[in-house]
Amino acid sequence: MDFTNKEEPLHTALKHAIMDWASANGLLVRTNEDGFTNCPVTLVPSLYPRQVYEEACNLATIFNRLIDRCSRDLNWLVETLEETAAGDDFIMRQIQICKKVNMSTGNIKKQKLQLGLNRSDYMIHAPPDSEGNVSLFKNISDQGSFLQVELNTIASSFGGLSDKTCDLHRFMLKRYQEEIVQCYDFLGKRNFSKVNLSSLPLTKNIEILSQGMAEAFKCYQNDVMSKDLPNNSENAEKCVVFVVQEDETNTVDQRLLEYELFRTYEIPVMRRSLTNLSKSAEVVITENVPKLFLDNRTKEVCVVYFRDGYSPSAYPTEAEWGVRELIESSYAIKCPTIPYQLVGAKKIQQVLSSAGILEKFLSKEDVQKVRRCFAGLYEVNDDSIAAAIENPEHFVLKPQREGGGNNFYGQDIPKKLKQMSILERGAYILMQRIFPPAQNSILLAKGGQIKLSKALSELGIYGAYLGDGTTEHFNEKAGHLLRTKVDGVDEGGVASGFAVLDSPYVVG
Ligand code: ADP
Ligand code: MG
Repeated sequence: MDFTNKEEPLHTALKHAIMDWASANGLLVRTNEDGFTNCPVTLVPSLYPRQVYEEACNLATIFNRLIDRCSRDLNWLVETLEETAAGDDFIMRQIQICKKVNMSTGNIKKQKLQLGLNRSDYMIHAPPDSEGNVSLFKNISDQGSFLQVELNTIASSFGGLSDKTCDLHRFMLKRYQEEIVQCYDFLGKRNFSKVNLSSLPLTKNIEILSQGMAEAFKCYQNDVMSKDLPNNSENAEKCVVFVVQEDETNTVDQRLLEYELFRTYEIPVMRRSLTNLSKSAEVVITENVPKLFLDNRTKEVCVVYFRDGYSPSAYPTEAEWGVRELIESSYAIKCPTIPYQLVGAKKIQQVLSSAGILEKFLSKEDVQKVRRCFAGLYEVNDDSIAAAIENPEHFVLKPQREGGGNNFYGQDIPKKLKQMSILERGAYILMQRIFPPAQNSILLAKGGQIKLSKALSELGIYGAYLGDGTTEHFNEKAGHLLRTKVDGVDEGGVASGFAVLDSPYVVG
């Protein structure tokens, strides 16, 4: 490609460079037609305040610990979600399984180890000042200048493709320095006379997330082999199962973890849908250990990693619920268990922000660090409804759903609140609306369409955790995910088509 050809607009040239790099390096998503296309990305990394980036990274291991501890306080968890469950059948079903499996007595051994591959998402809160100016760097050192959007405890996706995006942007900045400087200039970021690669933090999602899974696999094997069970000598291949959607388009992101597990640890991965598992999985109890097998006991499942199962559509029939319960009751290490998944409910996020709750789970010092990033979170009651109806633009109304596209914004909030029954209220929370600063950006959509726009970014930080309630076997920060969307679009999410992958160019 020739950048000296002035006929070709700069961004078109960069776009072609990116499309080729994406193809050659697997920065790809599936299309519905069973082919692949480029993963949507920004042409150049967005500027991001270094201090926010670093502080968010430092919270990862604390959130890991918090999630694990909350998930083990079952009485608190179930009680806290009682009203939510009354208005939300999906939460209710999970609680039923949780109670049945975890609160049952008997001799059957329970797996104490839980694996968390979590991601905490943040946006910088920078509402305009009295003169209407918004700055990316305004009040960054003030309390609450970046706020948590949500905490993902199941199917936290895009870790793999985010690593690839980081590689892509590093390549672009190094290979096409001058053009990138011109591009920043074009976007109005004029103080870039040269780009600095050290401002693009490395990200290790693939390495750390698969290391977490490999640790779990190893712990399971050591544990089970030490038990000297009669069927330990059987020839069942030990494996990890990825629970996936049959029509998944984000397969490359998942495969990157699978290939790393095999390349570095020689751990085989089986990709199965819940529907498939409802026919192929069984639990065999030997000496009170409920081992999980697949395909007529030819494969023993040591770790189950859910990339599906987070929304009601994953359970079209009772068969899918049945196998979810079977897995939950088995000795395989789950990522996540149902209690872990429940901790990711927006209702728990809201309750954790109320006075005195965090203190149950974390040290004083950690409580302080975590609380700084909590936005205003409110249960839906007469007071919060009145406030939200009066000022809907300052709130987001959220149900207990994952995967994007479920929240209510602006005038839809009063509309929804007014038609909500008392029972339904428990199924929602109201959240302070965060106003991230916009910056000029060039977004490259799937298939290569370019869009120039003011854009907003959401930073996610991944963490991996393995613990048994007493010992933390593994508690690591992994890497980042920066998603950028056109200003004016309320929702976020790459898979849901609202945002593109980006890299933080840390400054300040
Ligand atoms: P989901 O589980 O569907 O991903 P989120 O809480 O992450 O739910 O919300 C989806 C998107 O909506 C976010 O990625 C973000 O872009 C936007 N959003 C969520 N909460 C807020 C908020 N408090 N202020 C502004 N935007 C928000
Ligand atoms: Mg989200």
